[in-house]
Amino acid sequence: MKVTQYLKQADGPLVTIEIIPPLKGVGIDSIYKSIDPLMEFKPIAINVTYHQEEYEFRKMPNGLHKRCSVRKRPGTVGISAALEYRYNVEAVPHLICGGFTKEETENALIDLNFLGINNILAIRGDPANDETSFTPEPDGNVYALDLIRQIADMNEGRYLYEELDNATQSDFCIGVAGYPEKHFEAPNMASDLKHLKQKVDAGADYIVTQMFFDNRMFFEYERRCREIGIEVPIIPGIKLLAVKTHLNILPSVFKVNIPEELSAEVEKCRDNKEVREVGIQWCIQQCKELIAHGVPCLHFYTMGKSYGTRKVLEALF
Ligand code: FAD
Repeated sequence: MKVTQYLKQADGPLVTIEIIPPLKGVGIDSIYKSIDPLMEFKPIAINVTYHQEEYEFRKMPNGLHKRCSVRKRPGTVGISAALEYRYNVEAVPHLICGGFTKEETENALIDLNFLGINNILAIRGDPANDETSFTPEPDGNVYALDLIRQIADMNEGRYLYEELDNATQSDFCIGVAGYPEKHFEAPNMASDLKHLKQKVDAGADYIVTQMFFDNRMFFEYERRCREIGIEVPIIPGIKLLAVKTHLNILPSVFKVNIPEELSAEVEKCRDNKEVREVGIQWCIQQCKELIAHGVPCLHFYTMGKSYGTRKVLEALF
């Protein structure tokens, strides 16, 4: 069933969780171990992130260094299929523009369709780890908008390049990313929102936001989205602050602000056990306020860790 169908039928806030594939060589049991403790809260969907190649320089026998690509966390599609089978839950694989030609994207969509996976989060992807700006593949999708258009085309039975007789129409439900504190490349919020509106007009069915720790950012973002005519559901992305180093890592990697009140509490902690408790309590209050506001769903970035998310869910439901 589509994520949006669950949202329409719900009479209370729903839960989705997001996991990352394990490092290459690690078995799928590590994923199950992180998800099992959360299943009693009946998440309607489990998102599985996609990780494009990273680049590293390897020393060759002749002493020269060669730039080699490595996929450190492969397996998004396989994990998605395994989750649907094991938990009878919707899997939402993330599909990115980076590293894919349009034809490879089409083939990935055909695979997903054959697997019966019909929810996708369509995103652009970040710049490669050794680049400062995003470089699409030659003949790849440049923005998430282009990827959404390709998926929407397939939903209409339009495939690339060839006229196919009686081509099967897919029926993908398309989620997209939104940024309550603005995407870091956008010159301003108005510009970022204009591009978000284009994604929705092109066929995006719902929005999942980047993490934020101050609900006022989300409320204002939602208000501005509605003001420019974005009517699809907006699902807040929730992340638990769990260790002291998050005070620096989260702003630097995800370009989000940590409220002074939260960072002051964290600074006072003597160890990460105390930090985790502060993070859990903050998150519970954040979620309670979001639920009271009427959000349709809470999306938890678990990053493969279930302890804190479980504590929050126990307090909420
Ligand atoms: P886009 O919507 O394409 O926007 C990128 C930037 O370009 C924005 O600044 C936007 O304003 C601008 N822009 C958009 N369209 C145009 C246009 N037509 N002309 C000019 N400018 C334009 N990354 C991963 O690698 N794997 C994942 O699994 C993953 N999952 C994510 C899940 C969520 C919920 C979120 C919020 C992010 C996720 N990301 C993931 C990170 C994401 O790939 C990055 O934030 C990326 O930099 C932007 O992706 P996007 O889809 O928002 O891009």
